[in-house]
Amino acid sequence: MTTFMPHPIIPIIDRRDHVVLAEEASLATPDGRLRDVLDRPLHDLRISVTDRCNFRCTYCMPKDVFDRDHPYVPHRNLLTFEEIARVTRAFVAHGVVKIRLTGGEPLLRKDLERLVAMLAGIELPPGPASASGRKPDLTLTTNGSLLRLKAKALKAAGLERVTVSLDALDDRRFRAMNDVDFPVADVLDGIDAAADAGLGPIKINMVVKRGVNDDQIEPMAERFRGSGHILRFIEYMDVGASNRWKLDEVVPSAEVVRRLNALHPVEPLSANYAGEVAERWRYTDGHGEVGVISSVTQAFCGSCSRARLSPEGSLYTCLFGNHGTDLRSLLRAGASERQLATAIAGVWSLRSDRYSELRGVRRVAVDRRVEMSYIGG
Ligand code: SAM
Ligand code: SF4
Ligand code: SF4
Repeated sequence: MTTFMPHPIIPIIDRRDHVVLAEEASLATPDGRLRDVLDRPLHDLRISVTDRCNFRCTYCMPKDVFDRDHPYVPHRNLLTFEEIARVTRAFVAHGVVKIRLTGGEPLLRKDLERLVAMLAGIELPPGPASASGRKPDLTLTTNGSLLRLKAKALKAAGLERVTVSLDALDDRRFRAMNDVDFPVADVLDGIDAAADAGLGPIKINMVVKRGVNDDQIEPMAERFRGSGHILRFIEYMDVGASNRWKLDEVVPSAEVVRRLNALHPVEPLSANYAGEVAERWRYTDGHGEVGVISSVTQAFCGSCSRARLSPEGSLYTCLFGNHGTDLRSLLRAGASERQLATAIAGVWSLRSDRYSELRGVRRVAVDRRVEMSYIGG
């Protein structure tokens, strides 16, 4: 059995215009990347810009919990765009090459394109490049309701791609799942607007819940087959403390793939990069790609390389965490770049989370778990 040792804290230092990783040999890992206790590199940063949403998806923000009395984050406690950009620079200096904006509904945050422009200006330090070259990949996950309004401005500000969540094509079903009676036609129109603005290839995320929308697997597959968009089926997860998750409501990805294959034959594709969460498949007749995300039936903690920043500036290292590390206090107390970076490195280098792998083996207290609408998925 391998014994993992935590790596020492790796500070970063300012050098002229660039923030670069310290090169002291004793502190650097072989590839110059920050690694956790289980040897997982830091690769992605997910930034939740708000915990508010205009939908009440029953598996994420059930209405009876997320009502008027819910303690949403007050505006003064949200990180400002300048603070988010500063923290992001520190993460990029530590090896992050992929940034995703999320929420709540990120497009509800006023002037989000201003934040996009600030993040799009960040350059990678010398070392490994991202899929977009010398800048981190910059993407956004949205429910699509405001895309028609925002797509062009987001693209102009430097956003590269979007992922749109869509759980059903059937209008009645979709309205019931978002629980605010939002029509499916408007989300489909938002997807078209994003495609026209050049925010592709667009990924479409469908959370599959047995007995609720599993009959939509085939219609969704037919709708997006050959469209250039990549449909991904997500196993319904026991995230948060309010969705009353039950294992028998999960539709295993293996079943989804069997059903897709019966519709039109599919074959597996290799991952785009180590640690990619979606398992990729292609239609053998060349009509595009689909994916499955098997967070429940095939946990992928072993390659989990994502850090998550909450709207209030707390750093979480697992979707199923129940506490984050407060970076906002550091920022507002005037911490230097080096202090900020040292705090991030300290958290990541001590990280040992692997909730999904332990699910079923060890009971984890549910009541204080962070909500998906707060941390953003
Ligand atoms: N509001 C945006 C949206 O819906 O795309 C961004 C935030 S949402 C929390 C991010 C993703 O988490 C969405 O694709 C949503 O479907 C997914 N999600 C939320 N609750 C989930 C659950 N219990 N299991 C699996 N995925 C979930
Ligand atoms: Fe809102 Fe997204 Fe959660 Fe639905 S999944 S309630 S759109 S945050
Ligand atoms: Fe990563 Fe935690 Fe999910 Fe495992 S359970 S894949 S560690 S976020």
